[in-house]
Amino acid sequence: MKNKKIVIFSGAGISAESGIKTFRDADGLWENHKIEDICNQYTWEKNYEQVHKFYNQRRTQLSMVEPNLAHEIVAEIKNKYKDDCIVVTQNVDDMFERAGCKNVIHVHGELTKMECMACGEVYDIGYKEFYMDDKCPKCENTHIKPYIVFFGGQAPKYMDMYNAFEYLQNEDSIAVVIGTLGNVIQINANLELMDCKKILNNLEESPYIDDTQFDKVYYENATSAIQKIQTDIEEFWNKG
Ligand SMILES: [Zn+2]
Repeated sequence: MKNKKIVIFSGAGISAESGIKTFRDADGLWENHKIEDICNQYTWEKNYEQVHKFYNQRRTQLSMVEPNLAHEIVAEIKNKYKDDCIVVTQNVDDMFERAGCKNVIHVHGELTKMECMACGEVYDIGYKEFYMDDKCPKCENTHIKPYIVFFGGQAPKYMDMYNAFEYLQNEDSIAVVIGTLGNVIQINANLELMDCKKILNNLEESPYIDDTQFDKVYYENATSAIQKIQTDIEEFWNKG
């Protein structure tokens, strides 16, 4: 049996209140392109300029928003429990980092980083614009991809996520799910067989999540639920 840990798993819902929109909840279009064609492992090179234009806009937008209370409290929890707390997010924004949260596992990549297709180097671009002739800082190649997991692409950080989930077999561990429908990463199936304490916070019920498996359920904004979740974690942790 692995030692007890807190695993906090989040999705778009936690960043929505910061004003970060996903294209999935609108019509899925950007400048008349389907998002699936832009962020697609098989077609992105064909759409190279559009892909970079799209992500340049995402980074500019990211530079104009701020972390909210939910990011800040998660950062507080992480800083208190340190290695006993693992923060996993499907979000590509840097809201947790800007709230002071370290070692976040971004399973779908990070907007503020780029990846060289020639040598594999992942480097920071921050909120800066990518220019088509920008070179990899390591090998000077110009074949550069946003450090984002595209549709149909590999997600190497899933391994880190599954390793984190293994700690949830311990009944004294705590799983916290915030702001995800659970259809991209099937969090319901991942938690079903786990003996840990479970906390769910979404705006509303999701057809992909059976909330009866959770010990605490909050259907409300992440910013209004997060302090109750923090208290729950304290109680579960101290009892465990
Ligand atoms: Zn390179």
